[in-house]
Amino acid sequence: MSRLLTAAATDTGYLRATNQDVALATNDLAAVADGMGGHLGGEVAARIAVEELLNAYRRDRTTEGLVAAARVANAAVYRRSMSDRNLRGMGTTLTAAGFVGDEPDDQLRLALVNVGDSRAYLLDRPGQRILKLTDDHSVVEEMVRSGELTPDEAAVHPHRHILTRALGIEPEVEPDCWELDLEPGSRLLLCSDGLTNELGEQEIAQVLLDEADTGKAASDLVRLALHRGGTDNITVVVLDVLSGEEPAATDDIVLIPVAVPGKPAPASGTETSATTEAVVPRSSAVPMTTTPLGTQALPSPDAAPRAAHSRPILLVPRAKRPKGQRDRILTIRVALFVLVFAAVLGGTAGVVVWFDKASFFVGLDQGHVTIFQGRPGGLLWLKPSVVERTALTPPDLLASNVVYLRQGMEESSYQAARNLVHDLSLERTRIVPNTSATTTTSPRAVTATTTLAGVVTPPTATATAGPKR
Ligand code: MG
Repeated sequence: MSRLLTAAATDTGYLRATNQDVALATNDLAAVADGMGGHLGGEVAARIAVEELLNAYRRDRTTEGLVAAARVANAAVYRRSMSDRNLRGMGTTLTAAGFVGDEPDDQLRLALVNVGDSRAYLLDRPGQRILKLTDDHSVVEEMVRSGELTPDEAAVHPHRHILTRALGIEPEVEPDCWELDLEPGSRLLLCSDGLTNELGEQEIAQVLLDEADTGKAASDLVRLALHRGGTDNITVVVLDVLSGEEPAATDDIVLIPVAVPGKPAPASGTETSATTEAVVPRSSAVPMTTTPLGTQALPSPDAAPRAAHSRPILLVPRAKRPKGQRDRILTIRVALFVLVFAAVLGGTAGVVVWFDKASFFVGLDQGHVTIFQGRPGGLLWLKPSVVERTALTPPDLLASNVVYLRQGMEESSYQAARNLVHDLSLERTRIVPNTSATTTTSPRAVTATTTLAGVVTPPTATATAGPKR
């Protein structure tokens, strides 16, 4: 029966203040998580994801169980993010490979799950190359798949770190999943983007081909990535499939990194009985800390702030599946919003027009007393319109009424406005009776009729234009 031997290595790199990558290396499950968000969020997210993944996977070591474990990990990160505003928005990638049993002799069946842009590779020894098993959930990778970018262009694209899927961003996530039947001698590599940003696939393949020792291969990859720049946290896990005759650790559980700057490092000798041997390389120049699962507390978000560390990334939450249904819901919501907004806008405009058309006032226009439809000075975009220009002029009126007319004297209807014109003409007559014999309305009257001196009677309906409706 085949066995699995895993080894992990990591380094903070030269530009990051902290290491937000977490690697898991056990004899049946390996994982890499690249956390992001906040000064501590990335570390917390990656750590929660890996721990929850391992706990859930150990309850159901099947392919379905590993996929479910990734979903459990997502939910755990999401819940923690929602419950702690200091960690709001944190997320992590997750690439994991787990033994799922039921393999025939001399084979090892692994299930592989992936969310984000950490990667899994299979070493192709005869071809002297590595084969990428996972698809990056990133904007540029999708552009490459659609033919908009070449792989070389994607490698230097400024948006290459923008993810389309990550753990902890939404309540549910859909991991990609594969099953692999591996023979003894097979070698897998899990890594964060800190490795692939610095090294080409052929360089990675050469290291995996040259170094037979699992642990040394892992540390050599990290050391070489540091040599090339070390601009991000670098984390790798190398998995070797061994034949049943080869010795292997029985129940190794290794999580790296677990040391939180500013906190005391875990004391040696604190390993639990479940951990019998670590397969993480210890003699390399790569600085790392190893601790068995369960002996290191999660970093507290209340810890003293450190130098800013955050992967330059903008998460683009991917629509939950079923994708079509999610898109449809979004489209319906947008359409409903537009319809309601248009209805409210149209209704408001209708009320304004109705109010304007139902309003009349008497004022002065071109030196004559005039009946207007609308509001004095206009209402929003609606200007008053002339309904009837009478023969009355300011000399025919009391001076005080002229002042009011200049401002516009509002009435509730067209008929009320005509009555007002009539009353205005009478007031002058009543106050200055002696002038009535000689002060008649002007023959210039267009629509009004002069009866007594200075008295204007309301024009008949046929003599006026009437309000514009
Ligand atoms: Mg990274």
